[in-house]
Amino acid sequence: MFMLGLETAKILKHSKDIDKALNDICQQVLTLDKVVFSCFYKTSAIADQSITTTEKPQKFNRGYVKAFASRNPEFLIDAKTVNKLLNKSKAWQQIEPVVYETYLIMPLRLENIQQTSDCSWGWWVVQLNCEWTQCMVREYHQIAMQVEMKLQFDYSQHQLQQQVQEAEQAYNTLYHWTEQYRHLIEQVPSVSYVSPLAKDGKFDLAYISPQIQDLLGVSYNHQLLKNWQDYVYPADRPMVYQKLQQTLETGEDFNCEYRMLRHDGSIIWVSDTAQIGVATDQKTMVLRGSVHDISDRKKAEAQLIAAKITESTNQSKSKFLAFMSHEIRTPMNTVIGMTDILLNTPLSPQQQKYVNTIRQGGEILLSIVNNILDFSRIESGNLILEKKPFILKECMEQVLAVMRPRAAQKSLKLHYSQSLQVPHQIIGDYGRLRQILINLVSNAIKFTSHGEISIKINAQKINADGKYKLLFAVEDTGIGIAPEAISQIFQSFSQADSSINRQYGGTGLGLAICKQLCELMEGEIGVSSQLGKGTTFYFSIVTTESKTTDISQLVHYDQEQPSTPILATTLGEHYPLKILVVEDHPVNREILLLMLEKMGYHADSVNDGIYALEALQQTSYDLVFMDLQMPIMDGLLATDRIRHSSYLQPWIIGLSANAFEESREMALQVGMNDYLTKPLQMETLIESVRKLPQLAEGLKARKLINSIAPSANLLPVLDASIFNTLLDSIGFDHISSLISSFIELSAITIANMQEAIQTGDLQTLEAQNHSLKGGSGTFGATKLHNVCQELQRICFHCRKSQICSKEDMDTMYELVELIAMEFQLLTQVVRHSIYQSSSA
Ligand code: ADP
Repeated sequence: MFMLGLETAKILKHSKDIDKALNDICQQVLTLDKVVFSCFYKTSAIADQSITTTEKPQKFNRGYVKAFASRNPEFLIDAKTVNKLLNKSKAWQQIEPVVYETYLIMPLRLENIQQTSDCSWGWWVVQLNCEWTQCMVREYHQIAMQVEMKLQFDYSQHQLQQQVQEAEQAYNTLYHWTEQYRHLIEQVPSVSYVSPLAKDGKFDLAYISPQIQDLLGVSYNHQLLKNWQDYVYPADRPMVYQKLQQTLETGEDFNCEYRMLRHDGSIIWVSDTAQIGVATDQKTMVLRGSVHDISDRKKAEAQLIAAKITESTNQSKSKFLAFMSHEIRTPMNTVIGMTDILLNTPLSPQQQKYVNTIRQGGEILLSIVNNILDFSRIESGNLILEKKPFILKECMEQVLAVMRPRAAQKSLKLHYSQSLQVPHQIIGDYGRLRQILINLVSNAIKFTSHGEISIKINAQKINADGKYKLLFAVEDTGIGIAPEAISQIFQSFSQADSSINRQYGGTGLGLAICKQLCELMEGEIGVSSQLGKGTTFYFSIVTTESKTTDISQLVHYDQEQPSTPILATTLGEHYPLKILVVEDHPVNREILLLMLEKMGYHADSVNDGIYALEALQQTSYDLVFMDLQMPIMDGLLATDRIRHSSYLQPWIIGLSANAFEESREMALQVGMNDYLTKPLQMETLIESVRKLPQLAEGLKARKLINSIAPSANLLPVLDASIFNTLLDSIGFDHISSLISSFIELSAITIANMQEAIQTGDLQTLEAQNHSLKGGSGTFGATKLHNVCQELQRICFHCRKSQICSKEDMDTMYELVELIAMEFQLLTQVVRHSIYQSSSA
């Protein structure tokens, strides 16, 4: 028996598998002759922990046979049998071994399995073929205790393993989600951080996401967790700490925008938002936050503010300039206008010299005002360049035409050349290019006493789409510029010679404006100079070649010679116009009236828009000079009223001392036909009057008439004596209706003639011309009559000779056009005559 205990102990010690060990023990017990069978019966109670003491059934019926050995190989014990035995013997209620008949039933109990203490692992049942002695019971009980210990050990081991496994699983899950979370956090552009709230107010970080590397341009290291505060811009630190303290004291969210210093020294703006919370340990209080770069937003905000300030500054600057320009130009109008008038009166040579000097002074003053205006307008970004096609050579020729007389005065030669690559037509701002050139050439003339000045143009093709860089050079043989002055001359108000007693006048704005204009045209300007030898100014502009063949699209500046005084003074005689001057300033009004008088016009005048409307109601004026700024009703409003009225629509020329392009645009918008800036000059005034449709056509007609019938030039549009005789004979009422139908019919006749000449239908042309000629003769439209007669002559000649040369065709074509023009002119004059007769 002693041996059995030893053997079972060995089995239990060496076995790794408890089931096998229990089976081995059963077999080992069978080595004793007395043993019939041995069985380890395991309850299911351990598996089912829901069973409590009170719920426990009266009978035990749960369990199964775990190990079994029998002397009789045919005898098998099943769970049911063990159950019965446990019930019969009441052993399931016992905690000590029970001997029942030949059975010894020993409970096997484990501890710490569950809360209820009475839970068994199961029982070990051994049957003998004899009675159980006390000694034997004790021996077996001891073995049972060994088994119990082994079971207990195994069970605890198993429990531990399970716990470890569960912990591992939980850890894995946690790790997985933490990784996901980290991944997510590191995906967002902002930097996330966690900082435990230390009592000493220090904010060492426990975690900061790697985006910090991009934000601050540093490589990630643990030191960062401690010294991140060093990256807060020093001036902003007190504010950041104060807000942090506030969050700590009140528990409110932390929201702060501050600057940070990047590793490379640059400054960025960040937005930092954080909340206080509890760490995962459920104990430590932490601040969790995120920081993101808001530099772009801050920059945009700053730009917006700056733009607003600039805008309002520019606005007030522009207003001031408009005001100043108006205030300066108004008295200058008086000065220049009066000198103009004075120059046209009989003066002694000395007086003439004085007046000329005044006039020159006025002109210089005017150009200074214009320069200042230009400069400020470019500075404030208000200058918009035109982009229109023009012929480059035309622009150059205009510069030369203006500059040649000045060069000639100093006996300087003025040359111009351009290379073959230079495109013929370009798209750009004609006026501004001309302004740069005039500035450079007039400087060259100013600073050169002998020798020559040459302008050269070269071109570099930039791309196949016709984009060019045009290179201009203005070269002189003048005084040159000292090397130390070169860097300054392009700055505003700066001159090479800054001595008080300067030999040459000027504001020092010209080159600064040229530089700005070149830059606006995507080019640059530079200079090379040798003191005493000469100077060359270079500049470039970027432009596109224009291929337009539509001449009407091209920007032209009339190259016609300035009108001669003779023509100007006879304008009124040849082209009678009813003119109204609307101007509040008495001196300026007087000047304009005097200037018009010089041109042969006796104009009426009023001093406000409201009186202009009244005047127009009574008289149908052909031309109105309208001042823009007037006290009661200004010129813009008055024009607007006129354009929306049923009055016979006059040609309106706006007048203003305001040289801003916007004023001009406003004037044209309300329906003015032209716009002149004060001070008015005789030439510009004449030019503007010549632009009147009736005059423009008439002047062209005059040239043509001169070429075909020199004497026709002297003929009146309407012969007053013929017209008046007709009027007397048929009376006013009849003549006006007669004229209306004549005009109506003639318009149709002329349209027919135009069509006939186009299709080469000379027969119709001759017939229609004949009827027009008859009608015009009757009314005293002598000029129209004569042109018709000329046409008739050629028609007759062609019909007779049965050949019509190209030359004849061209002349006929021109004559038909002339007839159309003359007819328009006649219509105007006839209407006038009728009006005058009606009011007489
Ligand atoms: P200003 O209106 O005073 O002439 P600019 O800006 O046109 O002003 O010129 C600035 C200065 O540059 C001039 O005052 C002169 O000293 C110098 N300068 C310009 N062009 C020439 C030149 N062709 N030769 C010598 N000096 C020149």
